Amino acid sequence: MKNLQRKRLVAQLLFLLISITGFFINYQSTMMLIILATLLGGAFFCGWICPFGTIQDLISRLGRSLGIKKKKMPKSIHKILIYTRYIILVLVTLFATDLIFSIISYDPRANLTKLLTGNVPTIAAVIVILAFSVTALFYDRPFCNYLCMEGAKYSLMSSVRLVTIQREQDKCVNCKKCDKSCPMNIEVSKINQLTNLQCINCFNCISACPIKKTLTYKKVPFNKSTKKRYLKLSTALVLGVIALFIYDFSTNQSLFNFDIGQNEPAAQEVNIDVPEVSESITAGEAEGISDGVYTGTGEGYNGSMTVEVTVENEIITNIEVTEHSDDRSWFNRANKTIPKSIIEDQSTDVNTVSGASYSSQGIIDAVKNALESAR
Ligand code: SF4
Ligand code: SF4
Repeated sequence: MKNLQRKRLVAQLLFLLISITGFFINYQSTMMLIILATLLGGAFFCGWICPFGTIQDLISRLGRSLGIKKKKMPKSIHKILIYTRYIILVLVTLFATDLIFSIISYDPRANLTKLLTGNVPTIAAVIVILAFSVTALFYDRPFCNYLCMEGAKYSLMSSVRLVTIQREQDKCVNCKKCDKSCPMNIEVSKINQLTNLQCINCFNCISACPIKKTLTYKKVPFNKSTKKRYLKLSTALVLGVIALFIYDFSTNQSLFNFDIGQNEPAAQEVNIDVPEVSESITAGEAEGISDGVYTGTGEGYNGSMTVEVTVENEIITNIEVTEHSDDRSWFNRANKTIPKSIIEDQSTDVNTVSGASYSSQGIIDAVKNALESAR
């Protein structure tokens, strides 16, 4: 079973390389495959793909090879803390306040992705990445266990998994090696069929088990109790998804934005209501520029942004972001304010939006770039 862990390590390193090189993969089909795999067989993204998960695993391995003994969170605290990431997910989804966005902007998973794709995060964000990385020397997956809202999405999806880890009770010698090996603190030795939402499909438990075929990853038997569980889960899931889609649609929030550690594809054209350019607005930064529509680019949170700036009679009359790869929640906050402010002031010297500063700066820089190229 050591082979399985070798394969997982190779897959993790491969995806890390994909993130660093920005190697082209079709985002939408990859996402569809990952979601399908999660629904069928559990959170493969966390165990096999996520760059920050990989970094935590690599540092854990380093700790082990340095002889650092892994600690486990006391059970009583762990049982409470595992809900934190769902609370974060709900807060970010339903209550998009400045404070929440400012806190979330330190998310080490997202910031590591940013760093790997060549965008420099703030020093504070780098410190948070380092803090969780150092903690991984002593505790397995410290961020994944309690704080990752991306992981929380996959966990929820994995609740309907049809294939899972199962324990043959009569073969089990109760050595608890599976429990010790689990980075997500699941007591595998106590379950017969794994339904725990913490599971990241790392299969460490299977690899650690000394008795062959005691822990296996296989199709869930379709007995009475399984049917009952699926009925309850499916009802809850369908209602939840409908409610969230309605919320997503009515508020333009973005629960369904999944991030695979790669830039998202170019977003659809984004239009905003720009204010009527009043007579009193005088030429500012567009002074001396001929009428026309000019294209410029800037760096947002997840990568490049493109804007089209319309200039009429030396006045900026419209700014339209045509492409971006930032999370919609962050981007929309910036896009609602920044183009309007630039048009009102006829200047790119405007304040960024708190909690969406990278997206704001991306739009500002793209407008500056468009005006510079127009000149
Ligand atoms: S829990 Fe989050 S950080 Fe951990 S592997 Fe999953 S997505 Fe990545
Ligand atoms: S239960 Fe097994 S597969 Fe799931 S996280 Fe723990 S060790 Fe990994």
